[in-house]
Formats: sequence, C-alpha cells, structure tokens
Amino acid sequence: MSDLVPGVYKVEGSREPSLPVIFDSPHSGTNYPPDFGFIAPSELVRRAEDAYVDELFSAAPARGAPLVSALFPRSYIDPNRSLLDLDPEVLAEPWPDEIAPGEKARLGHGLIWRLCPPDEAMYDRKLSVEEVRRRIDLYWKPYHAALKRVLDDVHHRFGQTWHINCHSMPAISPPNSPEGATGVRRAEIVLGDRDGSTCSAEFLALVRDTFKKLGYQVKVNDPYKGVEIVRAYSDPLAGRHALQIEINRALYMDEQGFEKTAGFAELQANLTKLIDHIGDYALSQVAAAKAAE
Ligand SMILES: [Zn+2]
Repeated sequence: MSDLVPGVYKVEGSREPSLPVIFDSPHSGTNYPPDFGFIAPSELVRRAEDAYVDELFSAAPARGAPLVSALFPRSYIDPNRSLLDLDPEVLAEPWPDEIAPGEKARLGHGLIWRLCPPDEAMYDRKLSVEEVRRRIDLYWKPYHAALKRVLDDVHHRFGQTWHINCHSMPAISPPNSPEGATGVRRAEIVLGDRDGSTCSAEFLALVRDTFKKLGYQVKVNDPYKGVEIVRAYSDPLAGRHALQIEINRALYMDEQGFEKTAGFAELQANLTKLIDHIGDYALSQVAAAKAAE
C-alpha cells in the first residue's frame, strides 16, 4: 500500500510502476460518512455502489499498474461528475460559484444526487453550501488529486499513459438511465471513449477485441459513453489515453443480495488476462516511441 486516506481513497501499487497503465475505481466505496443524512432506503442507496469493482481489478498493482479506488460512496458525492454538474435543487441556498448542471444532474444524478434509483428522494432536506463544500474539499478533490498525481507520475516515467476507468452497471436499465427506457437488457461489457475522443481507436479496438476473444458481448458508447474522469484526464494526442469500462453486474454478483456469485472468480481471472494484454500493448507502444526518437 503506497497511499491511503481512510474513508476517502487508496492507491495500491509501487511508486515506480513497471507498466504505463493505471486503473481507477471511483464508485466501489462503501464507507458511508456519518454526516450523509439520506432518507432513501439504505438497500437502494447501496445499489448505487459499483460493488466489488476494485476487487475485480485487484491483480493490477502486482502486475505493475497502480489501482486508485475511492472509499466513499458515489451517492454521497460522485467523483465521476464535474464540479459544475451541481443540481441547484439539492441546495438550500444559491451556489456562490459558477455551475452548469447537465444531463446527469437533470436525471437526479449530478455531483450530489437528488434521487436514489429507481426513483426515491435521497434527502428530506436541502443541503447547505457549507455541507456540499465539505464533501468537495474532503472527498472529491482528494480523489481527483490522487488520481492525477498517479497519472502524471506514470506519464513522466513513460511518456504515455493508458488509463482504465472501471465501473459496473445494473443488468437491466432502471428508470432515469441513459437509455431513456426502463427494462432494457444490457450488454456484458460497455466501453466508453466519449465517441472516440478519450483514447486512440487502436487502444479501444485492443480492449474490445480482448473482451470478445474472452467470450464477452461488448458494446461501445452504448448506453455509456464515459463521463467526467475519462474526459478530464485524457489527451490522446499527448499520449494520455483513457477508456471507461462498464461491467454488467449479472456476471459476478446478485444485485439484490449484494453477494458475489460463482461467476466472480472467472470474471476476475479474465480481467487479469485483460490487464496483462493492456500491459504488453502499452509497453510495446512505449518501446516503439523510443525507437522512433
Ligand atoms: Zn460507476
């Protein structure tokens, strides 16, 4: 363990990683801060977690790729949202800085969630500016700073980075989901590069083809294109590649009971193969760039 802030984030892996590859799991946190104060049923709030996703990718650090994980739940403050995506409806008073609530805030799932899926009010109160600021300063910003530090360190070391932003999704679309319809059966794996803007087409193809060879049904940018984290830290022309992976929860867990299923071990083993494929590819890209210098 190289870096841990209890309840906020952990960074696993060597300070001198052997691969130019970084994984992050922003939504698998389960440490509910005591001042959260939600009224939605806790079993529904828990369903917002990308449960066990950090564990699914836990082989990464030993293979030379750092893994950054949030320890707080996304339902408290969502690290995969921009600070601008703040829903004024959750606030008791006007936000003093610029905000620009987008589609996620409109659906109730902006930076601070107004709704708990499927369609419950998260709070029976409005939040003060001070309360939201505290969540930003003590949770959102430290997570982003830790991730950015790791990405910058690896970029400095290798000249390029391949960043996988790891998530899981319900097997069936709930209300207020990006499909705009309830009950849609989802693919096993959804890759998101924000319509070709966050990584090279070659890297997207490598990850897609690896999943397909492992036997998974894969979709790209449908229904999830990738949100704030892959947007904020990608710059493919500068050698900074980021790709979002959404894993269908039916592959590894019982979505009602939160228990892992028999499929967990097989999926974890396949993701470890994926980590190795990405690592080999990334090292070959770095070597090719060096040879061309
Ligand atoms: Zn997620």
